Amino acid sequence: MKRVRELGGRLAPIVAITGPYRPMFYASMAVGMAAQLLQIATAGLGAWLVGAAISGTALSSLTPWLFALVIVAMLGQACSVTESWMVHAVSWRSLHDLRLTLHDRFDELGPGYLLERRSGDIARVVLADVNEIENYTSHVLPPLLTAVVVPIGATAAIAVIQPVLAVVLLPFLVAVATVPFWLGRHAEEQGRRARTTAGALGAVVIDAVQGLREIVAFTARDRALRDIARAQDATVAANLDHARRLAAERTVTGALLSTGMLATLAVGALLVTRGALDPARFPAAVVIAGAAFAPLVALTFVGGELQRIAACADRVWTILRATPPVRFTAAPEHPRPQPVVAFDNVTFAYPSSDRSVLDGISFTVRPGETVALVGRSGAGKSTCAHLLQRFWDPAHGSISIGGIPLAAFPEQQLRRLVSSVPQDVYLFNTSIAANIAIGKPDATRDEIRVAARLANAEAFIDALPDGFDTIAGERAATLSGGQRQRLAIARALLRDTPIVVFDEAVSNLDTESEAAIRRGLAAVAAGRTTIVIAHRLSTIRRADRIVMLDAGRVVDTGTYDELISGDGPFARLVQPTLQHESDVIP
Ligand code: ADP
Repeated sequence: MKRVRELGGRLAPIVAITGPYRPMFYASMAVGMAAQLLQIATAGLGAWLVGAAISGTALSSLTPWLFALVIVAMLGQACSVTESWMVHAVSWRSLHDLRLTLHDRFDELGPGYLLERRSGDIARVVLADVNEIENYTSHVLPPLLTAVVVPIGATAAIAVIQPVLAVVLLPFLVAVATVPFWLGRHAEEQGRRARTTAGALGAVVIDAVQGLREIVAFTARDRALRDIARAQDATVAANLDHARRLAAERTVTGALLSTGMLATLAVGALLVTRGALDPARFPAAVVIAGAAFAPLVALTFVGGELQRIAACADRVWTILRATPPVRFTAAPEHPRPQPVVAFDNVTFAYPSSDRSVLDGISFTVRPGETVALVGRSGAGKSTCAHLLQRFWDPAHGSISIGGIPLAAFPEQQLRRLVSSVPQDVYLFNTSIAANIAIGKPDATRDEIRVAARLANAEAFIDALPDGFDTIAGERAATLSGGQRQRLAIARALLRDTPIVVFDEAVSNLDTESEAAIRRGLAAVAAGRTTIVIAHRLSTIRRADRIVMLDAGRVVDTGTYDELISGDGPFARLVQPTLQHESDVIP
C-alpha cells in the first residue's frame, strides 16, 4: 500500500500540468466513465433481451427495449469517441505548454545549469520524457480510472440481479486487480535495470558511431564490437526478466479470470435451478461479470508502464523545480553605463565542487581597451568569461560594468552590453544568414553581408552552394573550425555590444584562417572593450594589456613589452614559445 501511495505521489503532479485544460481533462474522464458504463449496459441489456426471448417473452413487448439497446449502444460509442478526442486534445495541448515551460525554465536556469549537464540528457527529457507523459494522460490514466469504476459499477449491477452472484464474483475481481502489485517490487527493480542497460547500450553505440574514425584508424573494431555485444547481453537479460514476469502476471490473471467466470456460471446455474435467479437475467449477469474483468486485465498491460512513467515525470520535475544559479533583477535599466569591466577580488567555485577555481582575482578593462587573458589550461580564463556573462555569481568579491555590479543589471541589458565569440560556435539548423543574425533578427541582408565581410567570412560563404542561404546544419557541416569562428565573429559584429569576450581558437588553423580571424578580432576590438582569451603570441602582442592567470590568481599584469623584458611568470611562460619560434603558447 505504501508503494502505491508513493507511486501516486510521484504521478500526481502530472495532472497538474494539464493546467488550464483541467476542466476538460476531468470532463474527458467523466465521459470515459460514461462510455464504459454504457458499454456494460449495452452488453447487459443485449444479454437480457436474448435471455427474455429464449424464455418465450413476446417479441412485441421487447421491441421498445430493442430500440433502447440501439440508443444505449450508440450513446456508448459516441462517448467513447468523444473521450478519446478530449483526452488527446488535453494531452497534446498540455505537452505543448509543458515544452514551452521547460524552455522558459532553461532560459531562467541559463547556460550555467546546462554547462554542468550532458546536453543529450536534457534533450531526452524534453523529447522522450515529455512524450511519456502524453502516454500517461492519454493511454494510462483513463484505463486506470476505468479499472476502478467499471468493476464497482458492474458488481453493483450484478448485485441488483442477484446479490449472491456479486459475493461470488468480488474476491476474484479484487485478486485480479492486485496481481500487478504482487510482483511490484520486482517490476520496479526490473524497470530500473532495463532503463540503465538501455542507457548503457545507447552510450556504447553512440561512441561506436561518433568515434568511428578513431576505431578504424586504431583498428579498435574488435573492442568496439565486444563492448556493444556486452551491452546488448545486459539489455537482453534485463528485458527477458521483464518478459518472464509479465508472462507470469498474465498467466495468473488469466487463471483468476477463468476461475471467476466459471464460479459465476456454476453458482448462477445453481441459483436458476433453485428458482433464486430468473433464467432470463442469467445471461445478462454473466456478460456483466465478463465486462467487470476486462478493464482489470487491461490494467496488467498498463501497470508495468507506471514505474517507467513515474521515472520520466521525476526527471521533468527535477528541471522544473531546479533553482537557477542566478536571478536577474526586475529593476529598470541603467542609463548608458561606461563599458569598463572590473573584477574586484573575485573568488568562485563551480556548484559541483568545493574547490575555488578563482581565488581573489582583480583586474580592470578600460573602455575600448583590449586585454589578453593568458595562462595555462585550467588557470580560470574561461571561468572569468562565464562570470562576466553572469552564468554564475562569484562567491566573494564583485564584477562590475561602469561601476555597477552585474547583479544590478536586468538580463536583457546585460546581454546588450556583453557578447561572446566562443571557440566552438554552435550553428543552428537554419541559413548561414539567419545564424549570423541570431542576435539581431531584423538585420537586413546588407548588414549581414557587411558583418560577414568584416569578419572575413564573406568569401567562403559566397562559395557555399547557396551562399548566405545555405542551411548550416546540412552542407555547412564541412565548415572548418576557423570558418565557424569567423561566423561567430560576424554574429558578434552584428550584435554590436560595447563589451566582447573573445575566446581565441586554439586548434591548428591554416595560415589563411589564422590571419582572417586575426583581422576579424581587430574588427571586433575596434572601439569596443575586449577581453581575449589568448593562446597565440601574435594576439597577445597586439593586446593593449596582458593579465596572466595561474591557478585562479592574477600573477602578472602589464603591456607585452613590460612583461617580456622582465623575469616574471609571463616571460617564463612564453620563453619556450619564443625559443621555438612558434606562435601558440603552451
Ligand atoms: P581555462 O579557461 O583557463 O583553461 P577554466 O576556466 O576552463 O580554465 O577552468 C578552470 C578550472 O575550473 C579547471 O580546473 C576546470 O577543471 C574547472 N572547471 C571548468 N568548468 C567547470 C565546471 N562546469 N564545473 C566544475 N569545474 C569546472
